Amino acid sequence: MKSLQSSRIVLSESALKQNISYLKSRLKPGVRLSSVIKGNAYGHGISAFIPMAEESGVDHFSVFSADEAEGVLKFRTNPDTDVMIMGMIRDIELEWAIDNGIEFYLFENERLDSALNAAKRVGKKARVHLQIETGMNRTGFGRGEWRDLFEFIRTHSQQFDLKGICTHYAGAESVANYFRIQNQDDAFRDALKVAESVFGKRPPAHASSSAAFLTFPEKQYDMVRVGIAQYGFWPSREIYMHNLKNHVMDRDHDPLRRVMTWKSEIMNTKWVNEGEFIGYGNVYMAGRRMKIATVPVGYTHGFGRNLTNTGFVLIRGERAGVSGLVNMNMMTVDITDIEGAKKGDEVVMIGRQRGDEITVASFGEMTNNLNYEILTRLPASIPRERH
Ligand SMILES: *Cc1c(COP(=O)(O)O)cnc(C)c1O
Repeated sequence: MKSLQSSRIVLSESALKQNISYLKSRLKPGVRLSSVIKGNAYGHGISAFIPMAEESGVDHFSVFSADEAEGVLKFRTNPDTDVMIMGMIRDIELEWAIDNGIEFYLFENERLDSALNAAKRVGKKARVHLQIETGMNRTGFGRGEWRDLFEFIRTHSQQFDLKGICTHYAGAESVANYFRIQNQDDAFRDALKVAESVFGKRPPAHASSSAAFLTFPEKQYDMVRVGIAQYGFWPSREIYMHNLKNHVMDRDHDPLRRVMTWKSEIMNTKWVNEGEFIGYGNVYMAGRRMKIATVPVGYTHGFGRNLTNTGFVLIRGERAGVSGLVNMNMMTVDITDIEGAKKGDEVVMIGRQRGDEITVASFGEMTNNLNYEILTRLPASIPRERH
């Protein structure tokens, strides 16, 4: 038996290949692409996604935490593929990270000695990225700390392999943040100047996520950290419009293709008379004689209750509206006008079916910014398959 789950996620190899090659075509010569796969590869599932990404030409992955880095070690097919932890790592995990060649961010002084000592104990260099505080005000070394930091790393070059100096912009997907980001970039360049004076040449640098990468060519530095775009989503409507205007990009041929399709099947169908209520309470009353289908997907699977009476799914290439409350494990959809719809028919919650498509954003009344949240909330227990 192939799967006991009530829904599955299918990942398109051809879409991912297309996205990676498109994104690489936008890189300046010598700039590296890091594939950001935190949050279970934005819900796509790391076990299936990592090998697919490697086959598409990815040789560097970025994750948030040590446990996610462990996932890369487990699923990568090429032992030379790099992995970088951008966030959480504990002192007790440092030796493991150093021994396995895992790159990690340093963002506070307390960590410097523990990393140094761990590298000495392991007998290998710690591959580190120095995170610069430029205005995000989350983590990172402040202006007053830069010179001492760089000198510490230079002094201990036997224990540190400086892989990068980095920062993160506070919301490059919106033009409203433009000045803040420009100020951040100015601060970042100041830090790079200090680094250059300490190291004799500018160390490798990286700052851009998808939005900054697809908006500001001059902010690519030596590497870009691309999450959402590789999965086939524009970071925001604004970034999409900006690209339509400024690049050779055809409105009818989006160069980014959605990698994920999330699908299930019709579990049961039933006729309901006009005036009857469907499901719990009085949330939905049939305004006419209706045929409804139950779909074995609910909020436990990541199909939010907020899609009650507003979400859509695709059946036979047509939209079927969610009618009634989204339950924990199932929902009811209106198939009155979908000719021939029957038990066992494929139901698409996210992705294409025949000519139509349900984008994550059209999951009800939502903005593109919520792509991230909806995708990463898809439970790891849903099986992922390559196609
Ligand atoms: C998540 C993340 C990224 C990728 O962001 P996208 O908008 O998905 O491209 C890049 N850098 C850091 C530090 C991140 O946390």
